[in-house]
Amino acid sequence: MKKHNFNAGPCVLPREAVESAIEAIRDFDGTGIGILEISHRTPGWERVMKETADLWRELLNIPDNYKVLFLGGGASTQFFAVPANFLSKKAAYLQTGVWAKKAAKEAKFYGEVEIVASSEDKTYSYIPKGYTIPKDADYFHITTNNTIYGTEIHEDIDSPVTLIADMSSDILSRPVDVSKYGMIYGGAQKNVGPAGVTFVIVREDLLGKVDRKLQTMVDYRTHIGEEERNRSMFNTPPVFPIYVMHETLKWVKKLGGVEAMYKINKEKAELLYNEIDRNKMFVGTAAKEDRSLMNVCFVMAEEYKDKEAAFMEFAKAAGMVGIKGHRSVGGFRASIYNACPRESVEALVKCMQEFEAQNA
Ligand SMILES: *Cc1c(COP(=O)(O)O)cnc(C)c1O
Repeated sequence: MKKHNFNAGPCVLPREAVESAIEAIRDFDGTGIGILEISHRTPGWERVMKETADLWRELLNIPDNYKVLFLGGGASTQFFAVPANFLSKKAAYLQTGVWAKKAAKEAKFYGEVEIVASSEDKTYSYIPKGYTIPKDADYFHITTNNTIYGTEIHEDIDSPVTLIADMSSDILSRPVDVSKYGMIYGGAQKNVGPAGVTFVIVREDLLGKVDRKLQTMVDYRTHIGEEERNRSMFNTPPVFPIYVMHETLKWVKKLGGVEAMYKINKEKAELLYNEIDRNKMFVGTAAKEDRSLMNVCFVMAEEYKDKEAAFMEFAKAAGMVGIKGHRSVGGFRASIYNACPRESVEALVKCMQEFEAQNA
């Protein structure tokens, strides 16, 4: 039976990227050697690194004064690398979920942290509004998409101080004005590849302003390097995840880039949210205006609470995978990232309709 993959991350990848990765494991670039077995100092690999960075630049219109890096350690490593590189005295954080809270926690190792607003009071089901960003902060940190709670900041906000964003779960799902940010980062394993590589897009002139001594690997300037051909090559880069990212970016480009992706994503999300709002057995958990295009969270309506396990079974039998909600929210979460085909969303909607017809 066909499986419909709604995992929150790692998650579904474009089929083409997977096929091409399989081929590269057998034979990379016609070398007769597989990609898992090559040196990262071969010309073929240097070309892939450059092309991957160039694809990022093209897809997001990244200005020249920004550098694109591919690092290890996941987004969680950036939680402390960001304050190490940017926090002199004080940083401001918007607490929109558990990832945002974890990021703020690491910043406290380096200085004062001001939480400008938090939606923890309502299980992070909305994005706080009307807060003030302190002008004396070294930077303001946001999490644009809250993977666990299904809320998303839909606009590039205007910040009076350097804006830094964790975009792990909505990068490349919509156009972004990179010039409004000092830095954008995220783990690749939601929208741009498999687990194992972290993307960092950083405005170079903002670096080197803190007084503290930085460990070599923590300092972004190490990874920027002197020459482009050594970029993200200070130590061995995660070669295979970067390759799959390269293939994923090529796929995004082929579909028409982020504008086209955004249109498809809006249609997919609308399809599912419309069904949640129409179907009397389900209710969405996120505030409507803040609903994420990537992670759709819903629970059973009050009078059908006892049907939760039954729907899970029903959906499973219909081929749905990974729709169990995070334990802090309960219910269901369908992650419908870029690579999740519309066909899978349609299958889930059909499944909800059939369940309603049989049970309501
Ligand atoms: C998944 C996720 C993370 C954690 O990423 P790792 O690469 O596992 O460290 C951080 N932030 C957000 C928004 C996420 O969705």
